[in-house]
Amino acid sequence: MPSDNKSSKLLHVQNGVIRKLLYTHVTDEDLKNRYRLVMERETKKDIKEALQRVEKAKLIEIINKSPEITEEHIELCFEENRYNNRPNFRLFHLQSLDPQTTSASFIQAHKEDKAIKKLNQRLRDVSYSNDNVTSLIAVDQTIIDPQTLEIAFKYNEKYNFIDPETEQNEFIYELKYGFMWINFDQRYVNINLPSDLLVGTLSSVAEETLACLLIPVNITKSIVERVFPKDSMKRTTLSTATSGKIEKITLADKELGNKVSQNPEYEGYDSPSSVYQEAINEDGELYSTLGVNSEKGKIYLTRQLKASDMRRWGLWRIGQIMSHMNSIHTNGDIDEKFDAFGIAEDSEVKTFAYGQDEKKAIVELMKALVICKKQGIESYRLLIEKPEKLVAALKKHMNLRFRPYCDGCQEHADLVCPSCGKFEIMVLSRKGQSTTVKCGFCSEDIELDQLTCLMSHKVRVNSWYDGVLMYPNTALTSLMQRMIKKYFPEVDFMAEEEQFHLSNNVLHYSANKSSRVMYRVEEIPELEKVWGRRISNQRREDLQEVMELLKEKCSKQSSDACKACQKEHSIRCVMKPFITFTNHHLHPHHGQEYGDISFNMKMLNMDDAVFVGIAKSYEKKEITSASDKGREMLEQFYGKCTDTMTHVIGIVVAGHLEQGFTAKLQDLARRYNKKVVMWTYNELLMAVDYAIHKYGLSIENIIIDLKADGSKRRGRPKNVS
Ligand SMILES: [Zn+2]
Ligand SMILES: [Zn+2]
Ligand SMILES: [Zn+2]
Ligand SMILES: [Zn+2]
Repeated sequence: MPSDNKSSKLLHVQNGVIRKLLYTHVTDEDLKNRYRLVMERETKKDIKEALQRVEKAKLIEIINKSPEITEEHIELCFEENRYNNRPNFRLFHLQSLDPQTTSASFIQAHKEDKAIKKLNQRLRDVSYSNDNVTSLIAVDQTIIDPQTLEIAFKYNEKYNFIDPETEQNEFIYELKYGFMWINFDQRYVNINLPSDLLVGTLSSVAEETLACLLIPVNITKSIVERVFPKDSMKRTTLSTATSGKIEKITLADKELGNKVSQNPEYEGYDSPSSVYQEAINEDGELYSTLGVNSEKGKIYLTRQLKASDMRRWGLWRIGQIMSHMNSIHTNGDIDEKFDAFGIAEDSEVKTFAYGQDEKKAIVELMKALVICKKQGIESYRLLIEKPEKLVAALKKHMNLRFRPYCDGCQEHADLVCPSCGKFEIMVLSRKGQSTTVKCGFCSEDIELDQLTCLMSHKVRVNSWYDGVLMYPNTALTSLMQRMIKKYFPEVDFMAEEEQFHLSNNVLHYSANKSSRVMYRVEEIPELEKVWGRRISNQRREDLQEVMELLKEKCSKQSSDACKACQKEHSIRCVMKPFITFTNHHLHPHHGQEYGDISFNMKMLNMDDAVFVGIAKSYEKKEITSASDKGREMLEQFYGKCTDTMTHVIGIVVAGHLEQGFTAKLQDLARRYNKKVVMWTYNELLMAVDYAIHKYGLSIENIIIDLKADGSKRRGRPKNVS
């Protein structure tokens, strides 16, 4: 007799499958007797009919009373029927990080249960965004053909219901099954999980643990047409973005495929989803309805299949689709590739962007960049025509400026702020439906009918979007770098060395090295003694208090005091560490002077470029350009931009700048041809640690000294100039 444990597997197959197991192995007479034992009542009806009304738990009890049904029978039954959902294949193009990997070498390296062990190690740490689907784990692995490894998964899905007894909301967790196929030779991964949410989770875990990239597949119209016979198409949805045409049409007909392809009205339409009548086995006895969802790279059947049928059919169809995908991948042009890669469905794009418009705009930007780089051109017009639409979709990731075309100057011109007279930064912002332009210095709103350029021309525009400039922030440029590396490894976009921005709906690209503005401290070789040292996490924590206590300037300020400070082995202000590795000289502040740190350094082709750093003390919150500290920094930064003696401007602060603020400074510096080096929290910490090390001080002593200096400061009356 099968053990309870063995037969409990049957909980995961459908009742009909369990009944069939009983009919096949047990006589009607025995079934009737066991029915009576389990149900505690007789049946006068046909036993097969009576069993139709028996719930799963009771059916399993009858199985347990049937010695004719062996463990092997149950095992086989479970194996055939375990994937008790309708097949739902999500396809990914598989790129191995090691080009030498083949199906055979992968299977060899992951034999026995190595693949599930690897996956589970990582799956254990996954955090789920809600508790509806949780606890995804790999349960076993099977080689289903010489090239393909199948890994089976289970997870919990929450099922809510109202308890009829108590009328309370209740829930239980239901165990669900799914699987993944990995085929290195045909370069695909197929994920079959009833929950869409977990497809993304599993694909990123698989990328990490199996050393590969998984590129979502978009099953394009041309692939669909080549793989599925058009005379078996039963229903389709057509869509187009062409204005004047109906945007979305759903069509159904017994002979739909032929009728659609012969009707010129539907030319130029894309078909994001279609439904076919599909023969599952070779002799054509088993049919199912097949659905194709192109953008999701998904094909599904509406009929439940035995595992063996599903595998045979799936391997055949997926093999066909992927062979077309692979040929696009090796020979396709940029347009074909963008059509066939489901980039908007990439898990990284999905976490970065919300909403279809935002994702679409990001893919458009990426395409424009790839085209500029591949074709060696400097600008490319996006398909999205309205700048207003681009602003709405991308405003979170871009810095928006207003610089309209001036008829008098015959070019895009800087506008003068009527309140403060400055002109560099006109900030465009859009909240809901309303758009405003403010002066970046005095924050005064500008009126649309009062625009004056530097040459005192009156500038006329119809809307704020005539002349919008969009500069990407660093999160967006580094996303571009990663995505281009993943999808177009031959193109290689370096976010730190190459720039792009949008003017209206045209992307402008530049790879000019000398036009680069921002440099990281770690990129400056002569500062290696500062950035090349390892600082443990413990020490970083210990240094936190020092960072918080450091002042912008010393308490004593006079030529003599600064001279003494220069020689003293102490660290009391943000500027002091710099004298330990540069030729910076401490000096007192006078009136308008605000270049706190200055030294000479190598920068590009300048051997003694003048670095001028603006020093600011600790700030817990991210510094925005609207905060007091931010305004002060912007004002001083602008002063250094217009100073011809300064080549490199440093932002030195024990804190962090908000991305948009950094982008604004970068933009300003670019226009004055200045370079910028950021010494924010982490870089300043390296400088402080280096100085402590060089002076042979201890963190404790510095903290005591800083606290004493702080109380001296409070005792003194404030010095006005
Ligand atoms: Zn003008
Ligand atoms: Zn102003
Ligand atoms: Zn000092
Ligand atoms: Zn000074």
